Amino acid sequence: MRLVVIGGQAAGLSAAARARRIDRGLEILVLEKSQRISFGACGLPYYLEHRVRSLEELSVYTPEYFRRERDIAVRTGVEVAAVAHARRQVALADGEATHYDRLVVATGARVDRAGIEGVERPHVFTLHTPEDATRLRTQLDERPRRAAVIGAGYIGLETAEALRNGGVSAVTIFEATPYVLGRQDAELTRRLSEHLERHGIELRTSSRVTTIEPDRVADVPCELVVLATGVRPNVELAAEAGVELGRTGAIRASDRMETNLNGVYAAGDCAETQHLVSGRAVYLPLGTTANKMGRVAGANAAGARERFEGVTGTTILRVCGLGVAMTGLSEAQARKEGFDPVEVWIDAQDRPRYFGARPTAIHLVADRRSGRLLGGTVMGEEGVAGRINVIATALASQIRLEQFQQLDLAYSPPFAPVWDPLLVAAQQLAKLLN
Ligand code: FAD
Repeated sequence: MRLVVIGGQAAGLSAAARARRIDRGLEILVLEKSQRISFGACGLPYYLEHRVRSLEELSVYTPEYFRRERDIAVRTGVEVAAVAHARRQVALADGEATHYDRLVVATGARVDRAGIEGVERPHVFTLHTPEDATRLRTQLDERPRRAAVIGAGYIGLETAEALRNGGVSAVTIFEATPYVLGRQDAELTRRLSEHLERHGIELRTSSRVTTIEPDRVADVPCELVVLATGVRPNVELAAEAGVELGRTGAIRASDRMETNLNGVYAAGDCAETQHLVSGRAVYLPLGTTANKMGRVAGANAAGARERFEGVTGTTILRVCGLGVAMTGLSEAQARKEGFDPVEVWIDAQDRPRYFGARPTAIHLVADRRSGRLLGGTVMGEEGVAGRINVIATALASQIRLEQFQQLDLAYSPPFAPVWDPLLVAAQQLAKLLN
C-alpha cells in the first residue's frame, strides 16, 4: 500500500504522521512544491517586527526528521502537475509519474488578488509565504512612512500592527465590507476601530479598493501596500482530476475527509468543513483546523475510521495589545441562518480591583426559541483565549444558556472575579431571553 500526500505543511504532514501511527507498514511519500516543510506561517507577522529573528525558527520539522523518525519520505521542490485517478498516478511537473493507492490532497490556499488593478506593482506585498515575508521585511528596512493594508481580516490587522511596530508612522486599513474580521458585527467593528485609531491605525470600512496607484490607494498616499484580501483554496489540481468542489469553492469532503473519488482525501486550507452551529458547509482556512483535518484524513487513508465533526469558527488574534477572539455566529449571521437571536455586550473587569483589574468585553448570542448559545466574542488584554475556549466548548456541546450560566468556572483573585465576566454576560442575556 502506498500513500501519497500532496502538500508538506500543517494538513499534509499531520496526515502523513497519523497514517504512519495507524499503519507501520504503509509506504508514505509527501510531495511539496516549495523548499520548506512544516512552516508556521502564523509566525510571519512576528518575523516582520523582528520578534522572530529568522524564518528557520518557524519551520518545526525537516524532511530528514520525517525520514529518520517516522519512516516517511518527503520530497521538496517537487510540484504535482496532474492526478490521473483511473490509473492511480500523480504526474510531477518534471515529467516523472508516481503511483498511489491512497491520496491526500493538502494543497492549501493562496492570496486572493482578484478584482484589484495594480497588484503587480513593486510596492505591493502579500504575507503568505516565507518569501513574501522576506520581501516585506527588506522593504520595511527602507523605512517607509505611510502604508496601506487592504483587508481587515486577522492577517490584515496583524500586519498593520507589525508595520506600526516596524516604524511605519501612518497605516490605513481598507476593508470592502462594513465589518472587520469577516464577522458581521457592527459593535465589534466599532470597538476595534476605536482601539486601532488610538494606536495610529486608521480603519476604513465599506471601502472597496479596485486600483492601486504607484503612490497611493484611493486618496491615501503610501509607499507600501499589503494585500490581505483573504485566501482562495488551491483546488485546480484536484478539480481537474474529478474531485468535487462544494458551494464554498473549496474541496467537498465527508466527515472522514474523503472526497467523491474513492481513496482520495482532502484536508486543510484546500477543503471545506462543517460549521457546528449552523450545520452548513463553510470555508474557514485556519492552521488549527488544517492539523485536525489532516490527522483524520491520514488515519482514514491508512485504514482507520475516524471523523472530523467540524468547527465552531474560533478565531483569536492580538492587535496593538488587545486580544480579540470570536466563535460561533454573530447576531446577524445567526439571523441569516434562521435562528431568532438575542445578543448582549457587557463591559466587565477580568479580576478583582485589588488584583489589578483590566477591562474585558464579552459578547454572547443565544437563540430565543431553543435557549441555545450560538456565539460569542471576547476582547481584553488577558484571559481572552481561556474565555473564548469556554464559549467554543459550550457551542460544540450545544448547551443552552441556562446551563452556561451555571458553569463551574475557576475563581481566585489573580485570575478572575468571583462572577466571571462570561457568567455575568450570560445572566444579562438570560434576562433579555426571558
Ligand atoms: P498550506 O500551509 O498552504 O500548505 C499547502 C502546501 O501545499 C504548500 O506548501 C504548497 O507549496 C503545497 N502545494 C500546493 N500545490 C502543490 C502541488 N501541486 N504540488 C506540490 N505541493 C503543492 N492559522 C491559525 O489557526 N492561527 C493563526 O494565528 C494563523 N496565523 C496566520 C498568519 C499568516 C500570516 C498566515 C499566512 C496564515 C495564518 N494562519 C493561521 C493560517 C495557517 O497558516 C493555514 O491555515 C495553514 O498553513 C494551512 O495549512 P495547509 O497544510 O492546509 O496549507
